Amino acid sequence: MMLAGELALARVDVAVVERRVDQDLPGARAGGLHSRTIEVLDQRGIADRFLAEGQVAQVQGFAQRRLDISDFPSRHPYGLGLWQNHIERILAGWVDELPVTILRGTEVTGFAQDDTGVDVELSDGRSLRAQYLVGCDGGRSVVRKAAGIDFPGWDPSTSSLIAEVEVAEEPELGTRRDEKGLHAFGRLEYEIRDGEVVFKDSGPLRVMVTEARPGSRSEPTLRDLSEALVAVYGTDYGIHSPTWISRFTDMTRQAASYREGRVLLAGDAAHVHSPAGGQGLNTGVQDAVNLGWKLAQVVKGTSPESLLDTYHAERHPVAARVLRNTMAQTALMRPTDPRLEALLETVSELLGMEEPRKRFGAMLSALDIHYDLGDGHPLLGRRVPDLDLVTADGPLRVFTLLHDARPVLIDLGEPGGLDIAPWADRVEKIDAAYDGAWELPVLGEVPAPAAVLIRPDGHVAWVGDGTDEGLADALTTWFGPPAATQRAAA
Ligand SMILES: Cc1cc2nc3c(=O)[nH]c(=O)nc-3n(C[C@H](O)[C@H](O)[C@H](O)COP(=O)(O)OP(=O)(O)OC[C@H]3O[C@@H](n4cnc5c(N)ncnc54)[C@H](O)[C@@H]3O)c2cc1C
Repeated sequence: MMLAGELALARVDVAVVERRVDQDLPGARAGGLHSRTIEVLDQRGIADRFLAEGQVAQVQGFAQRRLDISDFPSRHPYGLGLWQNHIERILAGWVDELPVTILRGTEVTGFAQDDTGVDVELSDGRSLRAQYLVGCDGGRSVVRKAAGIDFPGWDPSTSSLIAEVEVAEEPELGTRRDEKGLHAFGRLEYEIRDGEVVFKDSGPLRVMVTEARPGSRSEPTLRDLSEALVAVYGTDYGIHSPTWISRFTDMTRQAASYREGRVLLAGDAAHVHSPAGGQGLNTGVQDAVNLGWKLAQVVKGTSPESLLDTYHAERHPVAARVLRNTMAQTALMRPTDPRLEALLETVSELLGMEEPRKRFGAMLSALDIHYDLGDGHPLLGRRVPDLDLVTADGPLRVFTLLHDARPVLIDLGEPGGLDIAPWADRVEKIDAAYDGAWELPVLGEVPAPAAVLIRPDGHVAWVGDGTDEGLADALTTWFGPPAATQRAAA
């Protein structure tokens, strides 16, 4: 949905093929959004819709060690507790406002690609012709398999049942870690007070319980859940009336390539891992924001197809890092054992120190992502901070400039000093002033730039030092050749 929204903003004809018949999601799944995801939603002007329905809190954690990021230089130095079904509903509301075709109750069964496009086969016997196909179809992605893209990684070492149920006997709410693994009871409805989760007094329960063995492939039943609870708690608390029973594991895999010709992958289709640290949905949303504008430019012919290769180059390492940190967290959260406890305490102690807290907090919130755009100013390849600029028309937030998902050049030097006329049809230019500090997570204050060229995903593509050196190259690399060259080529 995020990708569909991004493509529609760039005025690309886009269709979503969705197996589900409606927006309802059985089960809550992911528990919320991290700081950088809230920022990218803010870049599109829709963060408030999510903030209005969720609960802001310091949710960042590594192996259950809370990492406070409230001192980070971001307008959103926190996470947002909001169940995935609400996240999807709000996102769908935004997509509904854009020109996006959604074919619900329809499954992609395969595809065939040639030099000019992709024929997408649908379950109702029809086929769709598209210039590009992006598999956002989850961990078991049909698109990834049909594209023949390898999905190397590691089989599960642990497996948990997760469910939403009613009980006859009230269990103690909270997390429990023992020789069998990590388990938890909570209520779907909760409030965050003084940074602590306070569950409502009544209502359906959300239960998570580690299974004795990983590897079961059958659909989990109420009986499986009951047996797993008895094995851990000695009782199943009289569970009944489940609205959702599911299983998750720490299977860890990543697509070897995010692109095969005209077929690309994003989200869980490209990477799966344990939910530790709650990074899956967040990584997928950010994949979409990296890919959307690039794909739009290639479809419209403003950029060569090679721009799409930067999607893999930039996003594959980000998810590889998520895979590594979730594997490390799973190892630390294994069933209790005195030596592992000692290791966990040692890691906790380290994470309590300033520098590790900042580094891990920035990694897990994705605020530290640095795409490799070469050497230069520390802003290059990093997310632009959402500063309060002063312009001839009044105050202006940097993120407001990104609402339409268009690139923007902010000229902080002498007005009119930089000329980007040959890209004026694609890149917005703003003369502005900013007197405050330029501060980045972990790095702290960095030298104030004279100008910044910002990609639609909010990452800095060029930093000016008072001259225009390198600007034309950066504009061509990221937003296509100058207009005169394009007209000549056409
Ligand atoms: C217990 C649990 C807790 C989690 N907690 C968090 C968390 O706190 N934070 C976080 O960021 N992530 C979390 N995650 C991970 C998160 O749920 C996933 O990463 C996220 O849903 C992935 O989104 P996606 O759009 O890539 O794939 P999916 O959500 O799997 O969506 C894929 C969509 O494609 C459709 N589809 C599939 N195949 C086809 C087909 N052939 N044709 C048409 N449609 C198809 C499906 O119906 C579905 O709507 C958690 C996951 C679990 C299981």
